[in-house]
Amino acid sequence: MKNQFQKLLLCFLLAGNFVVAQEEQIINNIVNEAEENSQLEELAHELLDVIGPRLVGAPQMNRAHNWAVQKFESWDIPAEKQQWGEWRGWERGITHIDMVHPRLQTLEGRQLAWSPSTGKKPVTAEVITLPEVTDSLSFQKWLPNVKGKFVMISMNQPTGRPDYNWEEFATEASFEKMKRERDAQEAAWREKFRNMGYTSRTLPVALENAGAAGIISSYWSQGFGVNKVFGAYSKKVPTLDLSLEDYGMLYRLAESGNKPQIRVEAQSRKLGTVPTFNTIAEIKGTEKPEEYVILSAHFDSWDGATGATDNGTGTIVMMEAARILKEVYPNPKRTILVGLWGSEEQGLNGSRAFVEDHPEIVSNVQAVFNQDNGTGRVVNISGNGFLHAYDYLGDWLEKVPDTVSQHIETNFPGSPGRGGSDYASFVAAGAPAFNLSALNWSYWNYTWHTNRDTYDKIVFDDVRNNVILTAVLAYMASEDPERTSREQIKLGNHPRTGEPQEWPTPRSPTRKGGLD
Ligand SMILES: [Zn+2]
Repeated sequence: MKNQFQKLLLCFLLAGNFVVAQEEQIINNIVNEAEENSQLEELAHELLDVIGPRLVGAPQMNRAHNWAVQKFESWDIPAEKQQWGEWRGWERGITHIDMVHPRLQTLEGRQLAWSPSTGKKPVTAEVITLPEVTDSLSFQKWLPNVKGKFVMISMNQPTGRPDYNWEEFATEASFEKMKRERDAQEAAWREKFRNMGYTSRTLPVALENAGAAGIISSYWSQGFGVNKVFGAYSKKVPTLDLSLEDYGMLYRLAESGNKPQIRVEAQSRKLGTVPTFNTIAEIKGTEKPEEYVILSAHFDSWDGATGATDNGTGTIVMMEAARILKEVYPNPKRTILVGLWGSEEQGLNGSRAFVEDHPEIVSNVQAVFNQDNGTGRVVNISGNGFLHAYDYLGDWLEKVPDTVSQHIETNFPGSPGRGGSDYASFVAAGAPAFNLSALNWSYWNYTWHTNRDTYDKIVFDDVRNNVILTAVLAYMASEDPERTSREQIKLGNHPRTGEPQEWPTPRSPTRKGGLD
């Protein structure tokens, strides 16, 4: 009997060793595949340079979904586009802006997303600034002056040098003075809008209704040469974003009485109402196929550039991790899904729709790993308010190679993330979802939603680091003998309002967007 027991124990220990050895082998294989056979550069090139920006409702967004489905299938991973809604269809055409008076200069700018077109023929017109008015009545009296003119509706920035540059080189007195004057100028600008009786959203419509030829704005992103580029509010005439440098020049020329004129060709096509999708890829689980590990990244972008770091990098991390898993771990215990979401930028719409449409998946989520804040290596992971997240996520992270995990600070149990990216759609539904939060690499000023969010800003070694992290976490989450706990922390009172806090609740997506 004793002998029998010893045999059994030996078997058990050997099996245990076998599991550990197999685990090490798979993790080594993940690292090797990520480092020796990386597809990241090619994926980034095809997505960012060939397909380009991925604005919801634009043909390129659909092209990107088709490309992703084909890519997954070329790796033997079944994938499909899942429609969740409809959006206003619009295709960006060329934007050419030249100053033609008092001298000739080609300007740096572009139409905002969904901007109406100038039509086939370019429009040449004078550029004017907004008046100083004391009340809405005097503004209404002034309004007919906009007829046939381009109207500048953004404050003229006093400096195109970012504050960090001032801090480095200016005298302290001069830096302080600049900031004081800029604060006063911003206060006066807000006062001007109050006096006119409009906001920056409602003013473009009032101007076009009064006969303006177009709207010019400039949304400086507080770095050298960077502007944020969002959507237009005008319905009939184009809205253009101009670089700070060119906007300032036109502004000064208009204020000094030089009556600058520009010639604008802004083309675009309205495409009616088009379907919107998520791309979902699946590596089917073998032992627990009805439980899910989800690799999550939004696929859409704004279209001032090619959306390289928001969220091209998160996208290629999840695609590459899935490719590697399929290669080295083709028969996962649990099902591994990749969700490339549409229309995150307009309010997490794709992931909210997925959560709403697939309760059977969401209630069986083992873990969601989301990445969406740029090209940097992951430096932060929060337990998102799941009381026992440390017990499982902490265990999985222990298996991540030191070269990757050494950069990561964890925060357990943390508190539930309420927005900012798609993990929040899952957290709100009570599913253990975690955001792989990256080192910022000047994300907020230089690439996030800007005209400079392009391939050259990608730091591929950091992205590769994130692929290894994601693939190992997905592997460990899939293999874990235990189902993850969803128990939530008790939330205290809000530090500011003193009100008791509630766990966030799921919100429905916008399923019909951009239509009037
Ligand atoms: Zn994003």
